Amino acid sequence: MSFFPKIRLRKEVEDYLRHVYHNNELVAALGVDEAESRFVRLQNHLSHPPCFTTVRVNTRLTSIEKAKQLLKEEIHKFPGVIIPVHPHPQLSDLLLIPVIGPRRALTQHPVQVIVGAQCGNAVLRGAHVYSAGILSASKWMKVGDKVSVYSDIEGQCKRGAIEFDGTKVFIGNGIAELSRSEIFCSNIPIKGKGIRMTEPVYLSPSFDNVLPEYIFLQNLPSAVVGHVLNPQPGERVLDMCAAPGGKTTHIATLMNDQGEVIAMDKIANKVEKIKQNASMLQLNSIQAYCYNSTKAAAHDGGDSSQGSGPPFPPESFDRVLLDAPCSGMGQRPNMACALSLKELTSYQPLQRKLFSTAVSLLKPGGTLVYSTCTITLSENEEQVAWALRTFPCLQLQAQDPHIGGEGMMGAGLSPDELKLLQRFDPSLAVLCDHNDGDHDDKDRTPHANTDTIGFFIAKFVKNS
Ligand code: SAM
Repeated sequence: MSFFPKIRLRKEVEDYLRHVYHNNELVAALGVDEAESRFVRLQNHLSHPPCFTTVRVNTRLTSIEKAKQLLKEEIHKFPGVIIPVHPHPQLSDLLLIPVIGPRRALTQHPVQVIVGAQCGNAVLRGAHVYSAGILSASKWMKVGDKVSVYSDIEGQCKRGAIEFDGTKVFIGNGIAELSRSEIFCSNIPIKGKGIRMTEPVYLSPSFDNVLPEYIFLQNLPSAVVGHVLNPQPGERVLDMCAAPGGKTTHIATLMNDQGEVIAMDKIANKVEKIKQNASMLQLNSIQAYCYNSTKAAAHDGGDSSQGSGPPFPPESFDRVLLDAPCSGMGQRPNMACALSLKELTSYQPLQRKLFSTAVSLLKPGGTLVYSTCTITLSENEEQVAWALRTFPCLQLQAQDPHIGGEGMMGAGLSPDELKLLQRFDPSLAVLCDHNDGDHDDKDRTPHANTDTIGFFIAKFVKNS
């Protein structure tokens, strides 16, 4: 049984997603009952964190064994339980750290703090509570109090409320580092940590600033993308939607920092983040540009005469990654999603524009990988079906590694085409509890491949 209630969605979004999981093709293959039970599991699993935190090792600067050892030493500095570190059985540069929980036996305190749902999600991934995320605190809360923290999953709590009787989900205990009056009654709001979490329901050490040159916190499916793209030293590779640079830095690492990795993002301060990450991981082959990637091909009205930056001449990259902006419905944990149906369904045209640019910038014989962190058909399998119809020069390719499931029925793709797609679908996850003191969880590492965020990967090659 799920520990938390299912993800809260707007009714229109819930109906839309139900329809995705009840599409005619899928229902004909699975039957209505199985389709419905997948949809119910999806909603339940989205509100829980994946059972492992995953970190990618900067294999240019250290080995996986050394990183594992250093990480263990860092984790031992956290008070409380001992948490093991496992190498991923198939991905040679990934380490798995079990997320301990749900811890069902925690005692709740009378002093209560209510946080917004986004803040609540962050707490379930190992964060402390910052004052900006606090909506309500008991009247008498003072510095040093033991408090229980709850997530306002229906968005009903008013900021500054003394108490809250609406739907709230217990996410753990902590110690107040600010009093109620410092949070709500100061003339100048006090920023910074409001509650230091000591007993979160899911214990997952925060790796903020831990071994920053050696490890990069990255969801498992995101780390799969770099391997599927399979960039080679000396190549010219384009990452079209790159910030904050998780996949860009992976690509450069896999190329042993030899060649050219062009990273673009349309938001300037996010581009700075790519540069910071590249510099932190000591990668020199990355050039980052603030640019609208829909305009990155010179023949689309751009002028490629201004040097090495965008726009670029057609057919100038060996490999292109389009990790597209998307509705993000695969994110976990996500107890409440405020997205409207209009927002949820708004990404397909932009993804197609970006995809068209990707095809034109790819050399004949080159590889294009398309990925999203969402679960809708319209942003995933339907985009693949559209791409195969629109660009006869593209061929769908097998992926290595292929550790997620295959594509979802419902977009008219053939069974063979679906087998070539890689979908991490939380409806198919086996949630596994990791309990305090339970260190022998090596046999559960296979769950790391299913109990992940929702994600989708398609790989194409352009005919020579
Ligand atoms: N690949 C990134 C990583 O692994 O760290 C995550 C990318 S995130 C899914 C999508 C990114 O696309 C966002 O950073 C967003 O700013 C960027 N974006 C959205 N529209 C864009 C456009 N037209 N051109 C370039 N970047 C865009």
